[in-house]
Amino acid sequence: MDNSELKRLARSLGFKEVFLLPPPELPAHDDEPHIVWNTADIPWVKAAALLVWAYKPYPKEERIPSYYINSNLSYHASVALAKQLEAEGLPVLRREVPIKQLAVKFGVGIPLKSSLIAVPPYGTRIAFQSLLLGEPFAPEEYSLSEKSFCDTCRACEKACPAHAITAAGYDVTRCMRHYMDGADYPEWVYGIQKTHLGCEICQQVCPMNASLGFDEPTAEIKKAFALDALAEGNTRPARLLVGKNMTGHGKLEKEAKHFLEREKRD
Ligand code: SF4
Ligand code: SF4
Repeated sequence: MDNSELKRLARSLGFKEVFLLPPPELPAHDDEPHIVWNTADIPWVKAAALLVWAYKPYPKEERIPSYYINSNLSYHASVALAKQLEAEGLPVLRREVPIKQLAVKFGVGIPLKSSLIAVPPYGTRIAFQSLLLGEPFAPEEYSLSEKSFCDTCRACEKACPAHAITAAGYDVTRCMRHYMDGADYPEWVYGIQKTHLGCEICQQVCPMNASLGFDEPTAEIKKAFALDALAEGNTRPARLLVGKNMTGHGKLEKEAKHFLEREKRD
């Protein structure tokens, strides 16, 4: 199997693109030990594959963010891809790499003021997965014609309800997304969040995503995320759709109760 066959296989599993980049060579961060920051201890690794799962958002009135549903689908597709490579005796490790850093450094992603990266033509609406690969796979060269996009735009700065994006830059300590990765959030996040599990607002207004259009959640997804059912603790169907990692500790139930309270109040 070579790079082209790997890409064909990944596309058959639902990925839109595969970028084959040099392996990461960064200092390790102790606070994120699950990420492979460098491959000094695994010298057989010759390439880091960024698997791009592009998706369309749901209309912004929806409380369900399609990212988490697609991220779960992309996770299962990456497991299937790794298993197929293993079955053919090819050297592969399904591990998280510093995706943003690699994508920007090697010319496949544009860094944005919102701290996200955009990959044309998919904008920021991407769920990434990554694989570390040995020979016969090898890195390829990429170069983006567009290096910066935010210079004159302030759309996310104006839209962010947490004031996490200002003229001074992006402040992670004010960003809802940062807290929503955890098991529970500060009360102020419950008070202003618009969508379950993560904040979508800066992506909704970003011109990088303007031409992507929308998908509608299916009847199954709407039923799984019905607020009354979630608030009563019936979260299993929703957790199956978005994966259990993101939804432990009664998170969906608590969010649903807050949304219902706000609906009554407003
Ligand atoms: S994710 Fe939400 S809170 Fe964070 S910068 Fe974007 S709009 Fe602001
Ligand atoms: S909304 Fe504008 S400033 Fe914000 S990330 Fe997108 S392009 Fe950059």
